[in-house]
Amino acid sequence: MSTRRDKAEIRKQNKMPSLHHRKPKSIGGARHDPANQSWLPENKHRAWHTLFSNHSAQSIAYMINDKYLDPEYVFICVRKEAVCTDSS
Ligand SMILES: [Zn+2]
Repeated sequence: MSTRRDKAEIRKQNKMPSLHHRKPKSIGGARHDPANQSWLPENKHRAWHTLFSNHSAQSIAYMINDKYLDPEYVFICVRKEAVCTDSS
C-alpha cells in the first residue's frame, strides 16, 4: 500500500500535477466542485501546504501579513461577494 507521500513522490518524478482543493476539505471545501479545484505542480502544491497547511483564507492572509510580506504593505482577504457586483 502506498502512502500519500509515496504517491506525491511518484507524481513529482513523473511531473504530474496534483489536485489541490482551494478551500480545504477539512474546513468544509467541496471535494468534487471544479471551482474548488486546481491542478498544481507537485512541488508548488507541497510548498503551499508546508507554509499554510489547511488554514482558512483569512488565517493565511494573517500569516502572510505577520511573517512574509513587506511590512509597508498589507495583504487583504475579502470574500468575492463583498467586491464582485456582477449583476448578470
Ligand atoms: Zn492542496
